[in-house]
Amino acid sequence: MNILVINCGSSSLKYQLIDMEKEGVLAIGLVERIGIEGSRVKHEATGKEEVIIEEPMADHRKALELVLNALIDPDHGAIKSMDEIGAVGHRVVHGGENFAQSVIIDDKVMEAINDCIELAPLHNPPNIMGIEACQELMPNTPMVAVFDTAFHQTIPMANYMYPLPYELYEKYGIRKYGFHGTSHKYVASRAAEMVNRDIENLNIVTCHLGNGASVCAVQGGKSIETSMGFTPLEGLAMGTRSGDVDPAVIPFIMEKEDLTFDEVNEILNKKSGVLGISGISSDFRDLEEAAAEGNERAKLALELFCNRVKKYIGAYAALMCHIDVLVFTAGIGENSITIREQICDGLDCIDIRLDKELNQVRGKEAIVTKDLTATQILVIPTNEELMIARDALELVKK
Ligand code: ADP
Repeated sequence: MNILVINCGSSSLKYQLIDMEKEGVLAIGLVERIGIEGSRVKHEATGKEEVIIEEPMADHRKALELVLNALIDPDHGAIKSMDEIGAVGHRVVHGGENFAQSVIIDDKVMEAINDCIELAPLHNPPNIMGIEACQELMPNTPMVAVFDTAFHQTIPMANYMYPLPYELYEKYGIRKYGFHGTSHKYVASRAAEMVNRDIENLNIVTCHLGNGASVCAVQGGKSIETSMGFTPLEGLAMGTRSGDVDPAVIPFIMEKEDLTFDEVNEILNKKSGVLGISGISSDFRDLEEAAAEGNERAKLALELFCNRVKKYIGAYAALMCHIDVLVFTAGIGENSITIREQICDGLDCIDIRLDKELNQVRGKEAIVTKDLTATQILVIPTNEELMIARDALELVKK
């Protein structure tokens, strides 16, 4: 069966068509600038040349129509007709406390996803638009929702509650939800396969280090703690997001700088993190280059970033007693040799010993541990699309 995986942002749409028999990608693409002037589809079927389709797209429905046409196009398509798509898997960012697993989408599920808009006002609305566009264009094809938050629904209450008045949890659902769940789940299960152990008996720490970044403690295959919280702003320092700060800083800067809530939100989400510290860039390639040329603030941003990851690894080692496997994934985790080295530096005290020679890898699976009896350190490219497609296949088969 072929599964179409859809990841909708407010003005973008990423897609992959996956042949589940071989788990091979048949086509991959990206639609940009939906609803904005200059919209286009970048589409590539495996074994064929990439094509760029420039056409006005007022909304996600029009974008999807062009994607489906591209998929069945005789020249640059991957299938003959839409009947060859067995199901559509949709990435949905926030499932709140309603979803601990992926689900087949029906009216009730749509209602529950709508109820979560308040918790993810930037993410859930475009996800919903993507689902509705697919339902209109492919009314007979089953749709599955795969939630970023679902994997973290196993986190125990003592870890997900904030020490705030309990009523705030009851009234508004204020608690830790965690994100990047599909990625943490994928790399954790792949890690168990790579070290040839049953995931049930493993304590794994997964570091998803991309533009958004989070760390997760996976015990016996279940998420028991993660660094992102009520929103994806908590935890590590990120490209442009602050991560953890003393909450008292917020009213303080609001008063001093005469800021509105929107303005302070913008600072914390878009102007902070390694961009805010370095004043140069949110991109780690730029920062590594600047640091190598002696830029002190770039060096500071990288050191701060690595120290935060290190502190979370230490905290999760304490929570689980011992870490069997440490995983690095996503743009920075998969590609940055120096960041992995800097994070692991000095962690011998908790049995983490990186082999600097083996660590010379980018973008492919590798075991980079110095000492085989120590915590196994793995580099694993994440594959959220495959995970979404697997969930969709499993649900549709049932
Ligand atoms: P997201 O999906 O959250 O947008 P990615 O997982 O694609 O992000 O990660 C983007 C980050 O990965 C950027 O900060 C980029 O600098 C970093 N990155 C990509 N390639 C490299 C590399 N070769 N060296 C260092 N950082 C890299």
